[in-house]
Amino acid sequence: MVHRNTNAVRDAALRGAGFRVTPQRQAIIRVLETSDRPLSVEEIISRMKGYRSGVPTVYRNLQQFAEHGWVETLVGPDQIMRFVWCSTSKHHHHVQCEQCGRAVEVEGCALKRALEAMEAKSGFRITRHQLQLFGLCPECKGE
Ligand SMILES: [Zn+2]
Ligand SMILES: [Zn+2]
Ligand SMILES: [Zn+2]
Repeated sequence: MVHRNTNAVRDAALRGAGFRVTPQRQAIIRVLETSDRPLSVEEIISRMKGYRSGVPTVYRNLQQFAEHGWVETLVGPDQIMRFVWCSTSKHHHHVQCEQCGRAVEVEGCALKRALEAMEAKSGFRITRHQLQLFGLCPECKGE
């Protein structure tokens, strides 16, 4: 997941979404994109070397990125909410390692039939869903 995008691609995405390209926004994206695990706002700020940003400002930017589907919030195995970068706008899930905190994005979803069954039982039309997936990553499970 590291160095997938160049700065130019990142800046073009910001502009395309109507954001002003600022060093702070660039730094937030760079931190999230190069992290192998979801990060809290405080962790993001501590990794934004050279940018002294306040929690509310960074949080607001993260919320805006989330509206564009670039970023998602995940509750960790410790119940702390963190932010993770999403490399695709297609439906996907993230699996988090309970032991080391690493997370990977998993494309696709095979829940269609289960959701249909839940719709039948609840009488709801289910329009979206989030999954909290926890486990052990390949390293932590010892392979
Ligand atoms: Zn995601
Ligand atoms: Zn692990
Ligand atoms: Zn799904």
